[in-house]
Amino acid sequence: MQRCPYCNVRVAGNKSQCPLCGGELTGEPAPETELFPALEHPRFSGGFVLRLIALIAIIVSAISILVNMAVSTRIWWSAFVVVGCACVWLAAVVGVVNRRDIMQNIAWQAVLIPILSIIWDKWTVWRGWSIDFVLPCVCLVALLCMLVLAVALKLPVHAYAGQFGLVGVLGIVPAVLVGFDKVRVVLPSLICAGLSVALLAAMLLFHWQTFKQEFVRRFHL
Ligand SMILES: [Zn+2]
Repeated sequence: MQRCPYCNVRVAGNKSQCPLCGGELTGEPAPETELFPALEHPRFSGGFVLRLIALIAIIVSAISILVNMAVSTRIWWSAFVVVGCACVWLAAVVGVVNRRDIMQNIAWQAVLIPILSIIWDKWTVWRGWSIDFVLPCVCLVALLCMLVLAVALKLPVHAYAGQFGLVGVLGIVPAVLVGFDKVRVVLPSLICAGLSVALLAAMLLFHWQTFKQEFVRRFHL
């Protein structure tokens, strides 16, 4: 069996380093004493998927730039295609990184997509579509998805309380923007904020203890 001379413990299984201090182990590994069964590796690793999407994005970008150059117009529309590809890739990175935790994934996408669209809206002529439509609609869809998944997968509240809280608070932002007169089409923002407040209130009233524990756990209070 392997031993760690620093921690003076015996280590079961076949480990490359000490699980306590990360130091080097002495002695012979004993694979038959492995505590956990070996994990099955997924057919495609996250890195492979990201490289594949990156390759497709680069090909699409290159083709659009070449077509743009060949069909000479004075508008560089291919720049939009390139930025769009970059956004899709960024969203895929978030998706792959959080793929084991669907709630985390939804929460991150709900934050990322509005930010990217606001940057895009600013970068082109500001028409306000990002805060008129994208922000409230993404929050709304994210909240509803979380709700449906939580019920369908019978997830315990503590498994999604933090992420749900985050998206719920984000869903109130459109109402603040309406208050500051930044939004032109107010209906999506108001629907989104109304639903966010209702769901947050329901969660806080019925699962206050879980929310408190989750908050304490996440912020190490
Ligand atoms: Zn050690």
